[in-house]
Amino acid sequence: MFGVDPFTAEPALGESALILLSECGSLKRGHFVLSRGNHAKEYIDIREVYAYPEKLWALSKLLAQCVHPSVPIDVVVGPTRGGNDLSQGVAYWLNQFRFPKAKKYPEDSPIRRAWTNKIEVWVGDPADEQKEEERFVIADCHAKFVKGKRVLIVDDVATSGSSLEKVKHAVQKVGGEIVLAATIWNRGNVTSDKLGGTPIGSLITKEIPSWPPDECKKTGPCSDDVPVNTDVGHGKEFLEEKEMRMFRARVEIPTL
Ligand SMILES: [Zn+2]
Repeated sequence: MFGVDPFTAEPALGESALILLSECGSLKRGHFVLSRGNHAKEYIDIREVYAYPEKLWALSKLLAQCVHPSVPIDVVVGPTRGGNDLSQGVAYWLNQFRFPKAKKYPEDSPIRRAWTNKIEVWVGDPADEQKEEERFVIADCHAKFVKGKRVLIVDDVATSGSSLEKVKHAVQKVGGEIVLAATIWNRGNVTSDKLGGTPIGSLITKEIPSWPPDECKKTGPCSDDVPVNTDVGHGKEFLEEKEMRMFRARVEIPTL
């Protein structure tokens, strides 16, 4: 599509991203219970990063550095909530890299103005299941920045790719053209095929290894008696259920 790789994540940049995520507590290490019941040694709580503006700004810069300068981009769009904040930083850094000598806003370049506008994408009424596919919409006041423009979609973590797909749908609905999707972490092996041919690049492309509970007892952190984290994920419910099973096992044993 571009004749060059539109997004290149040098390993050092990915390492820097991992350090930033660890420093703000977004990447946790220990013993976690995931939503489907599997256990893992690592856990991403990306929400933490949004409490640290300087970390978010640094991650935005890393992400912008990976985008090839020849990729034509007019607007950066990210889904609410995290991707929305991220899009602001990425747009800022792309401007810095591409128009380093610009002095005035927006007179120096009409493109610059579009870049620096964060496009608001928000969630509709979550209770309205029938409109699930329309959850992300471009704000009316920002549709003019997207119509007929070339769009970079950014998001923090890609798991299934469904958020990126929904943003793509929202952008196309107001007449924007998606040229690239970029995320901090692609943990679900989301591919260009999954996004209907839109290229995707990520600072970190890695699935977090996990074990079904029975396997964790043999080879995972359960086997090493690492305490289950009850602050994030489903560790609390796991321990409560475990205690309940043990209680039932005790009361069901007939006393002689
Ligand atoms: Zn375990």
